[in-house]
Amino acid sequence: MLSMGKLDGKVAMVTGGSRGLGEADSRILAREGAKVVVCDILDTEGEALAAEIDGAYIHLDVTSEEQWIKAIAFAEEKFGPVDILINNAGVVAFTPLDSCDLAEWNRVIEINLTGTFLGIRHIAASMERAGSGVIVNISSTAGLTGYSQLGAYVASKWGVRGLTKSAALDLAKYNIRVVSVHPGPIETPMTAGLDVGFSRRPIPRIGQPEEVAAMVLFLVADATFSTGTEFVLDGGATIGEMVRS
Ligand code: NAD
Repeated sequence: MLSMGKLDGKVAMVTGGSRGLGEADSRILAREGAKVVVCDILDTEGEALAAEIDGAYIHLDVTSEEQWIKAIAFAEEKFGPVDILINNAGVVAFTPLDSCDLAEWNRVIEINLTGTFLGIRHIAASMERAGSGVIVNISSTAGLTGYSQLGAYVASKWGVRGLTKSAALDLAKYNIRVVSVHPGPIETPMTAGLDVGFSRRPIPRIGQPEEVAAMVLFLVADATFSTGTEFVLDGGATIGEMVRS
């Protein structure tokens, strides 16, 4: 007997899908029956993952409008109109704002924010053809509060959060939901070597990619009355400070 998945018959694209959070998202969506197009600039890792999850891989630098158009056409040719887009590709840079040069600022904004815009801009027509869609934009707790040394990243992630709301309003006419996800520190290559003081947090540990992927699956498959809003998973890091008595 064939097992039933929550996403049988669906087509998904995951940017930055080759490793880290994007890999975990790709795996869970495929496990639930979706045909997943892994999109990244890390081709070797992406191709291996796509083969493992019976999906497909395409090289997509999210800052390139041309590559977005090609990647969506590839997904449609291979599997059909796209139902699910996870805008996950992102980079971080640690520099205080008073020494952040323009090139670094532009790079972070281009990948994290403009890359997300381009995905929204070009996936809408495919989702219209599909009849409905869900776009999950991976922001961060850096889209909820400020952090020292992360000014460009914080600006990009607040941008993603705001963009999500406008996209939810503009694309509602195509039956597309758009939501933002706000993880705290998660154990991926991005956070390797990062020293975060977890001891005074309500959940005093780093998060796992699978915990974010579980949220993404919930948003895609079950959160049918949610659009334009924030979904936070940060071990309580942003709710307030624990006072020592
Ligand atoms: P990661 O560095 O492990 O993976 C990021 C992936 O994005 C990589 O595969 C990389 O090749 C890809 N990528 C980078 N630039 C790209 C581009 N121009 N076009 C296409 N792909 C590109 O990082 P991660 O921790 O898995 O982060 C994934 C997302 O989650 C990012 O948007 C990040 O900001 C966000 N996030 C991460 C954490 C965390 O603690 N790890 C917390 C909050 C939010």
